Amino acid sequence: MRSFGYTRPDSAQAAVAAFAAAGEGARYIAGGTTLYDLMKLDIERPAHLIDVTAIRGLDAIETGGDRLRFGALAPMSEVATNRTVLRDYPVLAESLAKAASQQLRNMATVGGNLFQRTRCLYFRNGAGGTSAGTTYPCNKREPGSGCAAIGGLDRGQAVLGQSASCTAVSPGDWPIALVALDAYVEILGAAGTRSLPVAELYRLPGNTPHLEFTLAPDEIVTAIVVPKTRAGRRSAYHKIRDRESYAFALASAAVALDMDNDTVRQARIALGGVATRPWRATAAEAALAGQRLTPDTAAAAGRAALTGAVPGRHNGFKIDLAQRTVADALLIAAKRTTA
Ligand SMILES: Cc1cc2nc3c(=O)[nH]c(=O)nc-3n(C[C@H](O)[C@H](O)[C@H](O)COP(=O)(O)OP(=O)(O)OC[C@H]3O[C@@H](n4cnc5c(N)ncnc54)[C@H](O)[C@@H]3O)c2cc1C
Repeated sequence: MRSFGYTRPDSAQAAVAAFAAAGEGARYIAGGTTLYDLMKLDIERPAHLIDVTAIRGLDAIETGGDRLRFGALAPMSEVATNRTVLRDYPVLAESLAKAASQQLRNMATVGGNLFQRTRCLYFRNGAGGTSAGTTYPCNKREPGSGCAAIGGLDRGQAVLGQSASCTAVSPGDWPIALVALDAYVEILGAAGTRSLPVAELYRLPGNTPHLEFTLAPDEIVTAIVVPKTRAGRRSAYHKIRDRESYAFALASAAVALDMDNDTVRQARIALGGVATRPWRATAAEAALAGQRLTPDTAAAAGRAALTGAVPGRHNGFKIDLAQRTVADALLIAAKRTTA
């Protein structure tokens, strides 16, 4: 057990000030459902935790006006069951409802969900050594140590966005839906406030896979904002996994359709479970624009979505699976009423 400091400020400004006072090694913590987990595995070793759960007003859910705004501390379960979200943005509700378990969704926040780390077996299992006493190399956990997943048991690894240093999948479901809807985050740090598209929070691994997010260490996400779109009601999050609940995606697709009868004006498509960061499928979106949505055009969009995919040893099935997941998600979303 490693000791660590603990502070529980009651405002976002006080949290940023606490971070500056605590110095290097400080980390924010919200629901704790992933950070405490990684601390127990000895993968994360923060010297000081700044617990943001006492910050007043940071859990507000606002659905009026021209955007949805979710305070970073809103529990996943509350956003997933919000009536406006369920009716007008099923892709958002489903991405949350199909994640983790009910107990976890009650604890976990929509802000913390953005920054969970990969479930790559070698990243998680290597740190404390295996029962056989082996510690697996992992460039994400231990920069420069190598990647045991490449050429190893790579069934769950990425087929898009991987590098010679890392093939780990970005695990979250919620960020996939947010990226499809062009959501952005509001951020507070020592340098002031700024906003950033959710898509730009995530780095490709390249040769620095330990650098996963673009947020500065002292910055805190205060809210997630989704611009309203008429594609929202015809949207869906389709998640394929090894079991129907309490499992991460093997492949998933977040889609939203703006349609004129059965013709697609605009499609929004993002992929999860197959890429090293939330993956916007722009080629698939372009393939559908102006087309009638049929099983054939949906399948063609699925193929376009996986453009550039490269399989490893055991995960080639993910390419076909993701293509079908996109096609099915499009057909599910198209059937949803806009009334
Ligand atoms: C068994 C299990 C199964 C799971 N299955 C799924 C699944 O199927 N799909 C899925 O998407 N997720 C899944 N999860 C992950 C779960 O959704 C996350 O653990 C949860 O969303 C994290 O939220 P939290 O508030 O608990 O974050 P914390 O653990 O408190 O923090 C996570 C990270 O976010 C940072 N952070 C937290 N809040 C902020 C903020 N406001 N600003 C900046 N940084 C912040 C922290 O510093 C930390 O690095 C699963 C988790 C478990 C344990």
